[in-house]
Amino acid sequence: MKTVFIKNVLLNGTKTNIRISGNLFSEIDPSLVPTENDELIEADNFAIVPPFYNAHTHAAMSLLRGYADDMALFPWLNDYIWPFEAKMTADDIYIGTRLAILEMIKSGTVFYNDMYWMMDSVWKATDEMGIRACLGVSFMDFLGEEKIQKSFDLVEEYLHKSPMIQMSVAPHAPYTVSDKLWIRCADFAKQHHTIMHFHLSETEKEVKDCVAEHGMTPVRWLDSLGVLGPNCIAAHVVHVDEEEIQILKKRGVAIAHNPVSNMKLSSGFFKSALMEQSSSNVLIGTDGCSSNNNLDMIEESKFAAMIAKCNYGSETLPVNTVIDWSVKNGPKVFGLNGGEIAVGKLADALLINMNNERFVPNFNFNSNWIYASSCEAIDTMICNGKIVMRNRHVNGEEEIISSAKQCAKKWM
Ligand SMILES: [Zn+2]
Repeated sequence: MKTVFIKNVLLNGTKTNIRISGNLFSEIDPSLVPTENDELIEADNFAIVPPFYNAHTHAAMSLLRGYADDMALFPWLNDYIWPFEAKMTADDIYIGTRLAILEMIKSGTVFYNDMYWMMDSVWKATDEMGIRACLGVSFMDFLGEEKIQKSFDLVEEYLHKSPMIQMSVAPHAPYTVSDKLWIRCADFAKQHHTIMHFHLSETEKEVKDCVAEHGMTPVRWLDSLGVLGPNCIAAHVVHVDEEEIQILKKRGVAIAHNPVSNMKLSSGFFKSALMEQSSSNVLIGTDGCSSNNNLDMIEESKFAAMIAKCNYGSETLPVNTVIDWSVKNGPKVFGLNGGEIAVGKLADALLINMNNERFVPNFNFNSNWIYASSCEAIDTMICNGKIVMRNRHVNGEEEIISSAKQCAKKWM
């Protein structure tokens, strides 16, 4: 079995040695010594931490970075994003996803929860680049029955193809999916034990339109359809009242908070304090690159904390809670034995360069990590026991960048 030995690394403030056997942390002990079987990482100047889980994104949209900025959600979607996406080919989606995963690796994300289409291309890119994902095939009524059925077939086909990649159903949002299709997606997810991933109560307009059409707010409408459950991940969840937060909590729905996208599209303010007080199951996601415009989870976590403090006072969402949201809650929701550097856990890790100027002085590591540092401090990423980045270099990155540049030329 392949073993990796991380020598003299800082773990929770103490120097130790760590051995990875296969895809798990097998030993953590300062008295361990490396053997000739071990692939040795000298980690004198490094700290080790668990990587980020990006709970809501549309990876291939990295190709739309900077294409349409500075407008509200509905004109942005209707006049720019959807017409652009209608022209994208499977190849474009593959190239865009590889660019996104490169950026995710470089900024410390080991898992992403995606929602897009042509997910066979997204699956291929993810499988090649060796990180974890849950890939949501999106459903909207306007696609028509033939495409909808093909999408269900695609989820089924890829369901068990890789232990690293989960498949999910992703009914896009209450304003694009009918009651019948919601119920069909929920039944499929239940039957196949998959996640159901969707946008929910993102804008005031969505809530008003839903009340006009169904006589209820989006959360209450979905609850009345019986589709909410512990396999659900709802993105945004901005325009909700206290009772709706309790409904989501009661049903076990996980909430993906997207602070930058909410700010950029002027969607509104997440109820961070209420979510924190009610111990709702909150995760953090970047959303797609066209409403962010990057996939940097350090930045996203910092924004989550800062906007919470701005709205509710500086004691709201302390740094350790933000880390729970962006690192620790993800593995629980997606049923993975990760999110912690401990014996028996999945060997996913980042090595942080403690000589990086933003880690000096080091009064509080977590504070430096989220409030001060940038992805420049991340030297190495290990995913499932394999080194996917070392000295900030990812295999094949030059080709990924040049093919994305080439692909984007035709849109310019
Ligand atoms: Zn989204």
